[in-house]
Amino acid sequence: MMQSFDLIVLGGGPGGYAAAIRAARRGSRVALIEQDKVGGVCLNRGCIPTKALLHASALYQHAKNGAETGVLCDNLRFDYQKAAARKDKIVDRLRGGVAALLKGAGVTVIPARGELVSPHEVRAQGEVYTAPSIILATGSRPAALPLPGADLPGILNSDGLLSLTAAPASVTIVGAGVIGMEFATLFSQLDIPVTVLEALPQALAGFDPDTVAAVTRSMQRQNAKIITGARVQGFERKDQAVSTAYLVNGQEKTVLSELVLIATGRKPNTRDIGLETAGVRVDAAGYIPTDEQMRTNVKGIYAIGDITGKQQLAHVATAQGLTAADALAGKPAAMRYDAVPVCVYTSPEIAAIGLTEEQARGRGMKARTGVFPVSANGRSMIHGQSLGTAKILSEAATGELLGAHLAGPGVTELIAGISLAMRAEATDEELASAIFPHPSVSEIILEAAHDLEGLSVHKLY
Ligand code: NAD
Repeated sequence: MMQSFDLIVLGGGPGGYAAAIRAARRGSRVALIEQDKVGGVCLNRGCIPTKALLHASALYQHAKNGAETGVLCDNLRFDYQKAAARKDKIVDRLRGGVAALLKGAGVTVIPARGELVSPHEVRAQGEVYTAPSIILATGSRPAALPLPGADLPGILNSDGLLSLTAAPASVTIVGAGVIGMEFATLFSQLDIPVTVLEALPQALAGFDPDTVAAVTRSMQRQNAKIITGARVQGFERKDQAVSTAYLVNGQEKTVLSELVLIATGRKPNTRDIGLETAGVRVDAAGYIPTDEQMRTNVKGIYAIGDITGKQQLAHVATAQGLTAADALAGKPAAMRYDAVPVCVYTSPEIAAIGLTEEQARGRGMKARTGVFPVSANGRSMIHGQSLGTAKILSEAATGELLGAHLAGPGVTELIAGISLAMRAEATDEELASAIFPHPSVSEIILEAAHDLEGLSVHKLY
């Protein structure tokens, strides 16, 4: 017998489960179809496990460098297996929490692979489920690298690396994007030799170059090698290790390491889910175009998360999921992408929102820039961190906040304040007249806002 619901959500990641819970709380009968574990990539193989390992590696570094602060550790060592077990425990607990929330909201979770068989029907494990509305939230997977030897043992993607239970002796990372640089941070903080090969001239392309410079400088201090302009050619097994061949400045070079991480982007999971059958349009790269309410070209079918080709971020997926659920309930919801924070959990951390200086110039905008260095911030000095910067951009004529680019301790927490200010359409003057706590790292934002007028008290002009 066909089971009917008000809404079927296909995929239980941070977009899908948020949409399911929101719709259920608004009174809909909701089914969530998930073939794997609820929580998606972010919780099971992404954001959460990587940050758990990064936290452990940062603690190790703090302890190692603690002598100056009076913390003396003899016989300090890092137990990777323990760190990995703690990471798994955190993931398990959070996953249990998501399952409990779904249950509490009355969402029917169907543990199976689902596929559209019509615009209002999904087949999963031989059963057909029907609903007038369907939200597609099937996420993305690591892109494979079509190079010779890319499937040899020892060559992993982020899923594989997160399953390790012992520390590798050395790692080569292909791609200095967000994934590549976060793993490079992890391994360099554990004193594991790491080489990052990036085809473009800058690591973390698209991020403000000053914030990236703080990270690359810090990583190089930890003996990590970041080689930009490096085109990877292929891989070979050599003496129990992998040799990665790359071309840089016209010269062929190789680097030998126990493991190789491929971090060259992710692909949308839009194949074999019945899109053609239901008539859902995808673009040339396989992404599903949507409007502001996350509607696809087929009435009743919505798409959210990594499959929409917007920023591949958990919080974007969640915001899109809530938008779709609210739109379904007839609420005035519309997705905006102009103030999405993007955080990179390197050391120092990077947090960015809105336009970069280059983007503002490209749009012909007259932007003002206020800058303040982390090295002049007392709390950062107490944390033992001097690398980083805060940069605030505002439109010269109107004072509208256009963007912020931060590198420094804990800035991934601080960017939420700027997100709120931009959402509330605060001007640069309003930001500059706020009172921020002292001593705190957040003062770098206030000082950068003061610097827009050349009035930062703690900056030498
Ligand atoms: P990415 O697109 O951010 O970076 C991939 C990098 O690989 C690019 O810089 C590219 O130039 C480089 N590259 C591609 N082919 C190459 C080659 N043959 N040789 C050398 N370099 C090559 O992709 P990613 O880092 O895999 O991340 C995927 C997605 O996941 C991103 O959209 C990211 O936003 C998201 N993500 C976000 C976070 C976060 O927000 N903290 C963390 C992890 C992942």
